[in-house]
Amino acid sequence: MKFTNDELKDKIIEMKKRLHVTIVAHYYQRDEVFDIADITGDSLELARKTQDDDNEFVLFCGVGFMGQSVKVLTPSKRVVMPKIACCAMARMIDTLYFDESVEFLQKHDIKPEDVLPITYINSNADVKAKVAKMGGMVCTSANAKTIITKALQEGKKILFVPDRCLGQNIANMMGLKSCVIGDGTDPREADIICYDGFCSVHQLFSVDDIAFYRKKYPGILIAVHPECDPAICQAADFVGSTSQLINYIKALPADQKVAVGTEFNMVNRLREKNTYILSSTKPECPTMNETTLEDVYLTLKAIEDKNPINEIFVDEDVQKWAKIALDRMMAL
Ligand code: SF4
Repeated sequence: MKFTNDELKDKIIEMKKRLHVTIVAHYYQRDEVFDIADITGDSLELARKTQDDDNEFVLFCGVGFMGQSVKVLTPSKRVVMPKIACCAMARMIDTLYFDESVEFLQKHDIKPEDVLPITYINSNADVKAKVAKMGGMVCTSANAKTIITKALQEGKKILFVPDRCLGQNIANMMGLKSCVIGDGTDPREADIICYDGFCSVHQLFSVDDIAFYRKKYPGILIAVHPECDPAICQAADFVGSTSQLINYIKALPADQKVAVGTEFNMVNRLREKNTYILSSTKPECPTMNETTLEDVYLTLKAIEDKNPINEIFVDEDVQKWAKIALDRMMAL
């Protein structure tokens, strides 16, 4: 039997209360899913806020590495996902590619003990664990500059995975030299050596889009996420993480036009007027958009039937080391 969205919403609200399940949703989720969540935020906010929640079951609407982060930080929780959706960027690196990157540096006479690896939070738990075992840590787009500043004080080169754009953008902001593995540059000349991963959604914005909006609406501001290409970030008025973008845009005067280079669902609910998407295409994250109200309902139904589906499990050793990588970041 098919239910309407309103019927599904009513059922979900009744079931999550009765079954003591906390629904968590990332900012990039569809509006109807975002609306029924108890906790919303960016990836780190979600993992942190969920730690303080009393319910045993967390129904996580987001992508795989985010659900893993909740499990890593709070292993006693049972984390289930309506869809085991993957982040395209997180899938671009695994532990073998990480080892190959370290070998690439060794071939250029850069010893592992002279390298400090930093992984963007958008990576799977096994990669975070690898990074921790080499003395490294996690960063987010909001704190990457702080983390890299501290890391450089150790006098080491930084291996930054998996997002080349974030690594290069931070290097540009800090006046540091960067390179991307495989771009032909000698890594000995770089302070930050970036792995060649990227976010497919944030690659949709172009310098031509910025020129278009500046010509069409003189005085418009351009605000973008640091997962965008360095050329876009250099041409923008503001570069910030998801939470920083939200705060920046909400603080603008109502008549100030702004074009935003990040995911569509989040931008679309920020402001009623004078906010534009910095692209002629709709920059939706396909995997974030996979989760529907029906998926949420079926996941709750499986909990009710005592047969939970899509539960996240993390190997004990991986959990321990991935937590160390996250804790090192939080300590800074
Ligand atoms: Fe991954 Fe990009 Fe989707 Fe974020 S928007 S989950 S980085 S693919």
